[in-house]
Amino acid sequence: AKRSNTIDISFFDQQMESSVKKHLEISQALNHAVENNELALALQPQVNAQGETVSFEALLRWQHPELGAVSPNDFIPIAEATESIISIGDWVLEKSCQMLAHWNEEKAFEHLGISVNVSSLQFRRGDFVERVKNILNSSGATPSKLRFELTESLLAEDIDDVVEQMESLRKLGVSFSLDDFGTGYASLAYLTRLPLNELKVDRAFVNDLGRHSKGALLAETIISLGRSMNLTVIAEGVETEQQFKRLQNMGCQHFQGYLFGKPSTNVKDYLPGKSL
Ligand code: C2E
Ligand code: CA
Ligand code: CA
Ligand code: CA
Repeated sequence: AKRSNTIDISFFDQQMESSVKKHLEISQALNHAVENNELALALQPQVNAQGETVSFEALLRWQHPELGAVSPNDFIPIAEATESIISIGDWVLEKSCQMLAHWNEEKAFEHLGISVNVSSLQFRRGDFVERVKNILNSSGATPSKLRFELTESLLAEDIDDVVEQMESLRKLGVSFSLDDFGTGYASLAYLTRLPLNELKVDRAFVNDLGRHSKGALLAETIISLGRSMNLTVIAEGVETEQQFKRLQNMGCQHFQGYLFGKPSTNVKDYLPGKSL
């Protein structure tokens, strides 16, 4: 028994050492990701009940020369811990706004918007509104085409300050979606204070839509809550026709997932007329 204990501990040490090493490697490499041109945006269509694309979500992709493709699930938390999320967030916003302005000029996709994931930390600096304003101005994007996806972790920030910043951004024309709703620690009382336009049903619930399942109960509750608050409700991670139908019956209005299109860095995948 003693022997296997020793083995377990050294195994654990090795695991920990390599995960700490990985963490350090990622955090150092992230500092240069923007300047070295290693980031890209993938777009995933968001559709209505007719399956027509109404907007896209912008999702970060990072290809490092040695580390390879690193998943945002792995590097975003590190970028938040090291604050490099500020410059990375600016980059995402710039790229998205440039795309919007480009579509407008090209008269392709000009009716479509882009949803951008915004980290709660980006609000903490206090100059977020100013940064967004500058990026909108320099890109020439139409502010009403821009939507920010926020998470419940925002409620851990100074709520009055967050609401004030959101109101200022709303005056510019930007709208807001609450992402991954129901997976965090949102207080409903606080939630109603946020000037939201959209509620996003998390993939975890969509994955579990069986009869009498917890996921189905939660999805249904979230959808009716959103509808009663006059918010657009969108479901993410829709992979099957069955999920699509079920969510529609529950009152969900917009949908996103592999059923309609995977995130792609090649916008040509989404040329108008090409089964969108
Ligand atoms: P999220 O915002 O919840 O994004 C949805 C994730 O689900 C994306 O993973 C997307 O590729 C994936 N997905 C979409 N449809 C399906 C489907 O039908 N089935 C399955 N299994 N998955 C699907 P991704 O791109 O790996 O991003 C992971 C997370 O990283 C995002 O979760 C978001 O929290 C974060 N993230 C991505 N880009 C950014 C960004 O620009 N800024 C910030 N702050 N966070 C980002
Ligand atoms: Ca999102
Ligand atoms: Ca989400
Ligand atoms: Ca999610």
